[in-house]
Amino acid sequence: MNYRLRDWGISRQRYWGCPIPIIHCEVCGTLPVPKKDLPVVLPADVSFDQPGNALEHHPTWKHTHCPQCGGAARRETDTMDTFVDSSWYFARFTAPHASTPTDPDAASAWLPVDQYIGGVEHAILHLLYSRFFTRAMQQTGHVAVAEPFKGLFTQGMVTHETYKSASGEWVSPTEVLLETTADVRSAKRLDTGAPLTIGPIEKMSKSKKNVVDPDEIVATYGADTARWFMLSDSPPERDVQWTEAGVEGASRFQQRVWRLVGEIVALSEQSKDIVIKNDDKEAMALRKIAHRAVHTIADDIEGLRFNRAVAQIYELTNALVRAAGIMAAAPDTRLDALKDGVGRLVQTIAPMMPHLAETCWAALGHKGLVADAPWPEVDPALLVDDEIIIPVQINGKRRGELNVARGTPVAEIEKQVLSLDTIVRMLEGKAPKKLVIVPDRIVNVVI
Ligand SMILES: [Zn+2]
Repeated sequence: MNYRLRDWGISRQRYWGCPIPIIHCEVCGTLPVPKKDLPVVLPADVSFDQPGNALEHHPTWKHTHCPQCGGAARRETDTMDTFVDSSWYFARFTAPHASTPTDPDAASAWLPVDQYIGGVEHAILHLLYSRFFTRAMQQTGHVAVAEPFKGLFTQGMVTHETYKSASGEWVSPTEVLLETTADVRSAKRLDTGAPLTIGPIEKMSKSKKNVVDPDEIVATYGADTARWFMLSDSPPERDVQWTEAGVEGASRFQQRVWRLVGEIVALSEQSKDIVIKNDDKEAMALRKIAHRAVHTIADDIEGLRFNRAVAQIYELTNALVRAAGIMAAAPDTRLDALKDGVGRLVQTIAPMMPHLAETCWAALGHKGLVADAPWPEVDPALLVDDEIIIPVQINGKRRGELNVARGTPVAEIEKQVLSLDTIVRMLEGKAPKKLVIVPDRIVNVVI
């Protein structure tokens, strides 16, 4: 509640900040600017050609009249710390055009903020100030809540290897040629071939030159690849190590999805005469994979576990690519399930690779944007594992297993057990001494 609480001096000698609305009069003292004169607006014709506060040096801005005696007076030239603004902007954003600082109805409707995402550098001061402001604004009736944020997530930073020349200068990754000989990585300058030392992986910073220009990545691979790589590499709360190999992997995956969509379009053309049986066992297995994937991916996205969502998408893609490969050789009854699965795949990548997803969506013949399409529905029946494996023991030793539907009755299990090859062989035509069946669990045969 009060650990290390201290007063906060909010005035700064800077141009960029909200003016502190105070007037100093030699006769009347320190007075607030009358409400009718608010807000105090910063001058636009400001010059930064000398050190210190530009407002202090401005020829006219600070000269004003005393609101009480009307005599010559001086405007406060200090401005507010920008932390003042960042402490309550989320309340103002709920009614940006209101003539009052907040519209309490709008603030009540929107606040608290559901999910706050920021870097760890904000986690102490800004968030503490925001909570303090919100409590104060609740007291003054500007907002109804005491806590501004429901959820906080602090994301990691982007890191990169560092490279240093023999003379101790940092070298940018774009000027470095990396080589691997007999499992040993080495670096040299692209232009001169001079050897470089590979330094530790650190937060990208201009001083260490280990910065990769996002514009170059976008120009080479596109924005989708850059985003996909960052989301796939590690949990978002941890640092991402930017590597060329990682980006190339993301790019390859994009191409894989695009090829798969092309195959599906071609298959649909070729296979117009195929009779689709939707309850076909194989088709249902494929549907299960797709529905389960969508279910888990949604859950992972909601929980901000993007790298896990990406891993699920890779698995779904693998299953669909396999099925497409089989069908390219001989189209079968799974075609509908496959098409549905690929549509679902495109929808799950859409939040992370919107450009690719839109192109795929259009290629698959959908009308409108995938961004406007509702998230794919999941059939709960397809999430249940209805096939189970029951181990079959003979005289206490596992000798086989049964693949049955969950809840298969004892009589049916008995019939299947007694027709198993191993059992038939071992019984030699006789009846078992004892047969213990625990449905959905285990079968014990005593002979
Ligand atoms: Zn005065």
